[in-house]
Amino acid sequence: MKQITSVAEMQAEARQLLKRDVTIGLVPTMGALHEGHLSLIRKAAEENDEVVVSIFVNPIQFNDSKDLDNYPRTLEEDLALAEDAGATIVFTPEAEHMYHSDNETMVQVTRLTNHLCGIARGSGHFIGVCTVVAKLFNIVHPDVAYFGQKDAQQALVIQRMVRDLNFPLKVEICPIIREKDGLAMSSRNKRLTDEQREEALALFGALELGKELIESGEKNSLTVINQMCEHILAHGDIEIDYMNIVSTETLDDVETIDEMVLLAGAVFVGDVRLIDNMLVDPAC
Ligand code: AMP
Repeated sequence: MKQITSVAEMQAEARQLLKRDVTIGLVPTMGALHEGHLSLIRKAAEENDEVVVSIFVNPIQFNDSKDLDNYPRTLEEDLALAEDAGATIVFTPEAEHMYHSDNETMVQVTRLTNHLCGIARGSGHFIGVCTVVAKLFNIVHPDVAYFGQKDAQQALVIQRMVRDLNFPLKVEICPIIREKDGLAMSSRNKRLTDEQREEALALFGALELGKELIESGEKNSLTVINQMCEHILAHGDIEIDYMNIVSTETLDDVETIDEMVLLAGAVFVGDVRLIDNMLVDPAC
């Protein structure tokens, strides 16, 4: 496995690979790799000749500078894990090399970002995500890019950007990988104390409760949301950032649940922000 830190070198490498007519899978990450990331890398390795894993804590997608500073960074471990899972190249650019100091070009998906994390974290968050992912696509030239359903809104937004800007690649969305007790794996889980780790489970518990209610016939979103929020508040010292039931296509709030919906939540456990979601089909 090669580690490439320079943008120009990564572009030159991608040009060589394109000449050799090999397929390239790209897995964009912010590092602190865990089984969730590794599942994407393994899938990319199954389906492509070359697998590029980018590790870049993208400063422009953070609305909170403390969150950026506290974001876990574990590069040495990440390199070993990525190689083991099948990465052939790890791309680890420095922020100064990714963004010119007078950078003034940004990519914005206008409507899908006007919901959930796009409201909670501010409009700059998804502009930052789309801009860095568009840059990675231009640098790496992947045939397929792999994203996790864990960040359901992000995956949908990237799919829309790829369609709208005619990026010549396929986006694959892979399932959420959870700990045995259901907690969605996240780099941020590393920052939880043992007690907070227990409390954080309430988010998954709420999603399970919502699923149960909908599958047993509850159609009123507000009723379901209220019970999910009650569940969370009863299970720990957690602040709810948002808890919504939305359309899987537009992310608009759904009032009456007649078809597949996305239950999406974000909470703060201490100062650690966690998100999770679940697709629920009332016909099940
Ligand atoms: P991040 O490093 O958090 O930006 O995540 C990089 C990619 O890994 C994104 O596409 C995430 O959706 C995906 N990912 C993160 N956690 C999980 C998980 N628990 N299960 C599946 N994919 C995940």
